[in-house]
Amino acid sequence: MHVAVLSSGTASIHMALQLLGVGAGDEVLCQSFTFSASANPIIYQGATPVFIDSETDTWNMSPELLEIAIKDRMNTYKKPKAIIAVHLYGMPYKAKEINAIAKKYDIPVIEDSAEALGSTYFGMKCGTLSDMGILSFNGNKIITTSGGGALVTKSLELKQRAVFLSTQARDNKPHYEHSSIGYNYRMSNVLAGIGRGQMEVLDERVAARRRNYEFYKQHLSAFDTISFLEEPQGFYSNRWLTCITTSSYEQREQLRLALLEDDIESRPLWKPMHMQPVFKQAVSYTNGVSEHLFSHGLCLPSGSNLTQHDLERVLQILTKTLSQ
Ligand SMILES: *Cc1c(COP(=O)(O)O)cnc(C)c1O
Repeated sequence: MHVAVLSSGTASIHMALQLLGVGAGDEVLCQSFTFSASANPIIYQGATPVFIDSETDTWNMSPELLEIAIKDRMNTYKKPKAIIAVHLYGMPYKAKEINAIAKKYDIPVIEDSAEALGSTYFGMKCGTLSDMGILSFNGNKIITTSGGGALVTKSLELKQRAVFLSTQARDNKPHYEHSSIGYNYRMSNVLAGIGRGQMEVLDERVAARRRNYEFYKQHLSAFDTISFLEEPQGFYSNRWLTCITTSSYEQREQLRLALLEDDIESRPLWKPMHMQPVFKQAVSYTNGVSEHLFSHGLCLPSGSNLTQHDLERVLQILTKTLSQ
């Protein structure tokens, strides 16, 4: 594997689209249930996002809808130029199925692994499962350089091209000569130093996040209105955030507000891109899964530094609210 370390996960997705030659008039199929940074770079390139809903086993891109969308786009417009699939909240997407469909139609996959460093899929590391993977080292991610990202690829040539473009595309001449448009997307040397240190604590951070998940699951599974996202056989999640689904929007809000009352922040799950005002013109292929997750789901406090006392405080509020 080859890695170009860049200034952010967003810049890395932008770079991946650039390397694939995505431009005006092209469509890119993108998981709808994600953070907006998965989709924004499609717009930077002047291309058009088409959103694909999720399946219920991993909450990630539905392979069935992906194939329906590819066929429909080919019938009504043209073949999509790329697919952006996301390992959301650290849970791997169904890579075997997605890759098989991508291969069948010969469309490259960009693997948004911003939330999934440390996750694995049948023993393979997330970020290395497709043509190009991207990572994020933003402040909220599992390890951080305060801000940063990376593009991961099997191709040395693509990595070198990414480094070239992200350092102002300067041709090999004694003077400054440019035959391509470049970007200032490199990671600074200071942050790279922090990143090397952070890599050493990755396993610890994953263990801490998984402990949070196990704690909540163990103590809340008695409440049958609350569900957790289980790992399918062969899937290993870094459990970046522990997310639950509740029986109704009202119950979700009750829990969120009860925590807030005690100054504890929790958040609804990502609002799907096909519901976002900024993407209201976009074509989307939906099945109701991400809309349900958005209205019923809650991300619980999940930091790597939560103490047993912190977790118990959260649990006590949740238990009390659920028992009312
Ligand atoms: C954080 C994140 C990104 C963007 O990474 P930055 O380093 O913040 O630019 C992209 N996709 C997903 C799913 C993310 O969570």
